[in-house]
Amino acid sequence: MDPTSKLAIIINDQDLPEQHKLIAQKVLDQKRISFDEGVYLYQQAELGYLGVLANHIREQRHGDKTYFNKNFHLEPTNLCVYDCKFCSYSRLIKQKDEGWALTLEEMLNVVKKYDGESVTEVHIVGGVLPQYDVAFYSALFTAIKQHRPALHVKALTPVEYHYIFKKAKIDYATGMKLMKDAGLESIPGGGAEIFHPEVREVIAKDKCTGEQWLQIHEQWHKLGMRSNATMLYGHIEKYEHRVDHMEQLRQLQDRTGGFQTFIPLKFRNQNNQMENVPEVSVIEDLRNYAISRIYLDNFDHIKAYWAMISRQTAQLSLNFGVDDIDGTLDDTTKIYSMAGAEEQNPAMSTKELVALIKQVRRKPIERDTLYNVVTDFTDVVFDEDIKPQFYKLPVIN
Ligand code: SF4
Repeated sequence: MDPTSKLAIIINDQDLPEQHKLIAQKVLDQKRISFDEGVYLYQQAELGYLGVLANHIREQRHGDKTYFNKNFHLEPTNLCVYDCKFCSYSRLIKQKDEGWALTLEEMLNVVKKYDGESVTEVHIVGGVLPQYDVAFYSALFTAIKQHRPALHVKALTPVEYHYIFKKAKIDYATGMKLMKDAGLESIPGGGAEIFHPEVREVIAKDKCTGEQWLQIHEQWHKLGMRSNATMLYGHIEKYEHRVDHMEQLRQLQDRTGGFQTFIPLKFRNQNNQMENVPEVSVIEDLRNYAISRIYLDNFDHIKAYWAMISRQTAQLSLNFGVDDIDGTLDDTTKIYSMAGAEEQNPAMSTKELVALIKQVRRKPIERDTLYNVVTDFTDVVFDEDIKPQFYKLPVIN
């Protein structure tokens, strides 16, 4: 049954609450839902209903296409001047023995390891350290682009940018222009957590505020550049805080159109100061993906990080609004494993990612960072999958 028919069944279902039907009708008519309706969905809507609505939007926009990319992470340091309560990754400067801090040359060596491999993106993210300043990052971006011009540099978050620009006494507009001129091509979605100060001041008190996070992305978009946005959910926030977070993103996107992808990040409770906070269920993960898809009507893509939520949940998420499951990673990130994710050494070959997507009857599309199609794997058969031909005995007449 096509997704529109399923929506029609919901709208005509006598037993469904009126509010459920009104929201389904809005989705069918491609109308935006309100803040209160977003909260209502979190409070009242069950998974099956949300899945029908979110999948309708997903298939209208992308059909069965499911995107991934070939990328690797470069994590300059896990030392950090901040002390976010949910962070399993950072070691404070006083815990230096457990940390690493790469030099510029060491970072370039990480990039050089991928020479000759078909990766399209380096994703640079890590802790905040005083020695990594505007001059350092400019030199890093320039050196990467000089070494490999076609490799897309997606790097740092407003947390780092706010810190280094403040130190350099330059405003956000000047700073982002400097980064662009040095070789930066897009900004990942991190550091957003939950914007609302009631939550942010408890879990991430000292780093940039939600408002500053949004201002930095706005300046970046004004330069004609693209970025992503995340939301850390499933800890001490209330549903209203999640909807407020998405509402602020939706408003900025209305003004700039610079966001590509929204990425809900599940709070994991290992190795951090919030170990007493239970993690939410897979059902809540899927509900959250679906509501994000419904609420953020001006975002093209919703992404699930397979390395964070497990391969199976990533497969399931493709029926709940998600159309992107991130990249091959090549075991280059510690962020998920240190927080207790199922994937302790996250790496998938292209073949494995393609198989994961095909198993749930979606079409695997390798994309670059800006969603240009690199390869449509729908009909690709990998060499090693071609069955060996049996040797035929010669026919003797
Ligand atoms: S979340 Fe980022 S800013 Fe916060 S402590 Fe961890 S590495 Fe530092």
